[in-house]
Amino acid sequence: MDALICRSCRRTYALDDPRWRCECGGVLDLQFTPRLDWAALGQRKPNLWRYREALPVQKDRSIVSFEEGFTPLLALPIDGRQVWIKQDHLFPSGSYKDRGAAVMISKARELAIPAVVEDSSGNAGCAVAAYCARAGIECTIYVPEDTAAAKLAQIQWYGANLIRVPGSREDTARAVLQAAQTTYYASHSWNPFFFQGTKTFAYEVCEQLEWQAPDALVLPAGNGTLLLGAAIGFAELRAQGVIENPPRLIAVQSQACAPLALAFRDHLGSNPAIRKEDTLAEGIAIADPIRGPQIVDAVRQSGGTFLTVSEAEIREALREISRLGIYIEPTAAATVAGLRQYLRSAGPTERIVSVFTGSGLKTTEKMLKLLA
Ligand SMILES: *Cc1c(COP(=O)(O)O)cnc(C)c1O
Ligand SMILES: [Zn+2]
Repeated sequence: MDALICRSCRRTYALDDPRWRCECGGVLDLQFTPRLDWAALGQRKPNLWRYREALPVQKDRSIVSFEEGFTPLLALPIDGRQVWIKQDHLFPSGSYKDRGAAVMISKARELAIPAVVEDSSGNAGCAVAAYCARAGIECTIYVPEDTAAAKLAQIQWYGANLIRVPGSREDTARAVLQAAQTTYYASHSWNPFFFQGTKTFAYEVCEQLEWQAPDALVLPAGNGTLLLGAAIGFAELRAQGVIENPPRLIAVQSQACAPLALAFRDHLGSNPAIRKEDTLAEGIAIADPIRGPQIVDAVRQSGGTFLTVSEAEIREALREISRLGIYIEPTAAATVAGLRQYLRSAGPTERIVSVFTGSGLKTTEKMLKLLA
């Protein structure tokens, strides 16, 4: 039966229970049986709602959408080798976070939730604010004080309340928990419906490769919202008999903040305490990710690994991609830097897919500083 299920104590809750964590404090996943409607699929528009029967929103009229998704899977030469890159920087709010927000906010509308809170280093806040504007849901976004100015502007122009929290990204996460006692927490790291949106990445990649899975997927890992979504999506595609083997997940972290790479290497069952340093890839600099052990397990089960990238490698990747005529933000370039590392040891016939996660237009101050 469809349900919310706790990863820690396995307790289940009804799918329409508007809760974002278990009574025991554990994170919730979704138990849900998707199916693809092959006949309908061919008739549908190229957006992520074409996988309608795989998305846990009951009524069509709950759907909050800009007809987002089905982003181009572009073949690009990277270091002399052809790879496929999903252009998720082309989403309406400028990052792949729209995948998660589309499904999560549709579910919030289905549950008649009047107001939500969310915390973010920027892009998740922009996405949730955009979909709340479209849905007519009141929205309050908590961000660290040093968030990029363009993202702060975007969140406010969508009509969301913006709360700037002094201190670190972790201080912001603590501040929102207070508000989440009384208001629905539309969290991209806690809320299981967000991952039901990001899983569409897998469905799209698979369809764009003529219903085959790639051999390897190179993805960012901060809170793992895209990585875990992709893992869910490919597992569902296997369960439905569409593919035989899900891709290996190659998870990329910044060297300046790599708790998951350390947990993977040392077989730790929980997030290690690390000292986070400044990085260009602030969007994936998550010192204590809520779903840390889940991310490490997903990577290990897939036969994949973790890679860490330096500031110099991020700068170099940003430069290389820009010279191909594509403008991405520094955090997105960290994944490209990981892809370049991966290519050095990849097999000659491997089919490799990666992603541009966010647009460079959101980080102008940083881009100008990097030019100088
Ligand atoms: C959110 C984000 C990521 C990484 O996502 P996680 O969920 O933290 O793993 C990567 N790039 C950009 C641009 C993002 O906004
Ligand atoms: Zn529990």
